[in-house]
Amino acid sequence: MLVLVDELMSIGEFSERSGLSPKRLRSYAAGGLLVPAAVDASSGYRYYAPGQLRDAKLIDALRAAGMPLSAVGSLLDQPSTGRLDAWARHVEVDAVQKRDALDLARSLLAADVEPHGPIADQRSGKGAMPRLNTAVRTDVGRQRDTNEDVALAHERLALVTDGMGGHPGGDVASALAAELVQAAFTGRSLDELRAGVRAANRAVWDRARRSEELEGMGTTLCAVGLTDDAHLSVVNVGDSRAYLLRDKVLRQLTDDHSVTGELVRRGELTEAEAREHPHRRVLTRVLGVRPDVDADGRAEAAINGDRLLVCSDGLFNEVADDEIGALMTTAPDVIAAADALIALALSNGGRDNVSVVVADVVS
Ligand code: MG
Repeated sequence: MLVLVDELMSIGEFSERSGLSPKRLRSYAAGGLLVPAAVDASSGYRYYAPGQLRDAKLIDALRAAGMPLSAVGSLLDQPSTGRLDAWARHVEVDAVQKRDALDLARSLLAADVEPHGPIADQRSGKGAMPRLNTAVRTDVGRQRDTNEDVALAHERLALVTDGMGGHPGGDVASALAAELVQAAFTGRSLDELRAGVRAANRAVWDRARRSEELEGMGTTLCAVGLTDDAHLSVVNVGDSRAYLLRDKVLRQLTDDHSVTGELVRRGELTEAEAREHPHRRVLTRVLGVRPDVDADGRAEAAINGDRLLVCSDGLFNEVADDEIGALMTTAPDVIAAADALIALALSNGGRDNVSVVVADVVS
């Protein structure tokens, strides 16, 4: 940096103009973040240049937002508002997890719970932690121009979101929610997964309010997480579904939050009628359209050999449950199962985006 000597400010003057104490300036310099423009070789006095005022204020703002020094340094090297968005999402998830942890602590104090209960039964045997072997497929379908579904998976998580609100809102909502829940879930518990869903809801809601073109966007979300106690934790909002194939029997693990879903549960509509119902896309619960969301959640023990399916409505509005069950039972592996499900949804019409995650519990 070429700086004219008469422009330089002493640390006291720079401190006054930047609003940062000399002590703080010295600590940032020690961390390599805001190195003085010049140092008097004999007295050791530090001098700063006017051009460093913005950086000083920026560093201080980022530190106040809780960003670690290393992340601040790399942001200064490669400035990007995307990094700020990513940090904002981290802060959101962190706050929800801390609130949930406090709620848990409160309930433990109130319930006087035995602190050393029995260790969870690891039914997969020999204490080995099971994992998910997954295949992920998503397809735009035969009638839509864009795919607003997101499907993702790793060895502890299978997740599908189905965005609504048109382009670009639907894309943004489904991608943001999927990314946040994935970031929030470390395999700890069902509560952790639900906290991720609440954080995702708040993030989509906030984002929609900040932009006219995203107004009204929302998304479904269905996720199955494999937790440290070898349980399958299932959460859902909207009409994306999770199924479990165990002992050749296919069982739906989720309730659809849709008008037709409610009618089927009340016995006023059959599944086959629901698939053709004009209101089959009308949802009674959506992620991101209110400040808070009530996600359904349940957990059950994972058993070696369980085969899971998480999917968007583009699958089950084209393919009946008994056909889904037959394909899941006969497919030799998760890749064959996922490919067969997508192919059948497309050949039956492919009226919507269709997404599937097929996951085998293995240890
Ligand atoms: Mg859909």
